[in-house]
Amino acid sequence: MRKILVVEDEDAIREVLALNLRRAGYEVTEAASAEQALAVFSAAAGFDVAILDIMLPGMNGFSLCETLRRDSSEIGIIMLSAKAMEQDKVRGLSIGADDYMTKPFSISELLARVEAIARRVSHSSEEPEGAESEGRRVSGIFVLDPKSRGLYKNGKMIDLTQVEFQIMELFFSNPGTALVREKILEGVWGKNYYGDVKIVDVNIRRLRMKIEDEPSTPKHILTVWGYGYRWNA
Ligand code: CA
Repeated sequence: MRKILVVEDEDAIREVLALNLRRAGYEVTEAASAEQALAVFSAAAGFDVAILDIMLPGMNGFSLCETLRRDSSEIGIIMLSAKAMEQDKVRGLSIGADDYMTKPFSISELLARVEAIARRVSHSSEEPEGAESEGRRVSGIFVLDPKSRGLYKNGKMIDLTQVEFQIMELFFSNPGTALVREKILEGVWGKNYYGDVKIVDVNIRRLRMKIEDEPSTPKHILTVWGYGYRWNA
């Protein structure tokens, strides 16, 4: 059963989330603060997705997100914000969240997003044993390894989030091809994703920080102005 961590200090919202996620077949652990969430997280491994409210007493959702992401590049993270603050969204995504939702949100939309992220996360852990060199893909000095969900640059491992890994898969499948942002969005987040294409830009920025020698003058993930991005190994 997929395991979800819900971190929200407002009891009513947390309970509605937990109830609906349980009905949808998830195993849900609730935490009313970031501190409580960290205690739960270190005691029980194997969460697939964490839903983090930004406004929490004590440590806020951003700090919690950063801490969880340092511990695990695999867990899917969805941030919840009380208002549609564009800078909150960009900040959340840039520190390692996979998705972002503004309150009030519909439960069906939240479930759709949790499902999309959970599918990606469990896909990586269900990789068959012994498939080490199988599916390993090479592009220039880069190697993408589905087993570890990691990217190697000159043999050095670069830790990627699930979203970043999927973007790299898309690039490796389409070397030298300009990919329109909507195509990247659809390829990684799925056809039914409700969000906007800015999430692509934020993840590209993060990927560049990880893989480029100089992120401000990228040599590998090139911008195609007014269109999207092109992979150049
Ligand atoms: Ca709150």
